[in-house]
Amino acid sequence: MINLTNFSSIFIANWKLNGNLEFIKQYYQKLLNNPQNCTIICSPSIFLNKLKTNDKNLYSGAQDISIYNEGAYTGELSAKMLANNQISFCLVGHSERRQYFNEKSDVIKLKSINLIENNIIPVICIGETLEEKEKNITKDILKYQIENSVPDISNFKNTIIAYEPIWAIGSGLTPTLEDIDEVHTFIKEINKKFNQYKVLYGGSVKASNSRDINMIKNVDGCLVGGASLKVEEFNSIIS
Ligand code: PEP
Repeated sequence: MINLTNFSSIFIANWKLNGNLEFIKQYYQKLLNNPQNCTIICSPSIFLNKLKTNDKNLYSGAQDISIYNEGAYTGELSAKMLANNQISFCLVGHSERRQYFNEKSDVIKLKSINLIENNIIPVICIGETLEEKEKNITKDILKYQIENSVPDISNFKNTIIAYEPIWAIGSGLTPTLEDIDEVHTFIKEINKKFNQYKVLYGGSVKASNSRDINMIKNVDGCLVGGASLKVEEFNSIIS
């Protein structure tokens, strides 16, 4: 398993359902290498074997995984298969999966267990809706999601948490820096076992705001959706 403590920050590109072979070729010709940070490109699964990686700081990640390891489950892709293809990371419980595919915390927990058992680091996504934020229950929601999605076998070496307010994803809106600071500190203090976890921020990160967000003490990097599709923009985020 990759040693997360080697990196000062972790940056994840979530390409979602985007990309093609020509896009990948152009992207990797221009992608910069920042040796202090860990950069993870999460492409659609069919392209994972086409992404360049090295053993220092550039990795590939999947965007989702099956709860099953093998068997009669047509259309699924298992953690065991990812491991067999040297994939080191996988997003789990992204809000689009929770929202459009009705994924619940118990399923996210099972997926995370499968990944960890196959030496793959799950990036467990959590976040509140706008309605929950307006009702002032963000912390209750995050606590519930953490307690029910993060398995007991998780620790700061084998699991990453990504805080992604749902209302900030793809909207151009972000919480204030003070709010991000407060939420990340809250996550790390839910239980002392979370103190050392890497907690990433995601939601409308772009070149113009990434520096300020990354300067926040308890932010250990960013999960970037839309802006990661433009390699020049992603380069300025990771550097
Ligand atoms: C995401 O998809 O995880 C994400 C954060 O998207 P965006 O950066 O486009 O808000």
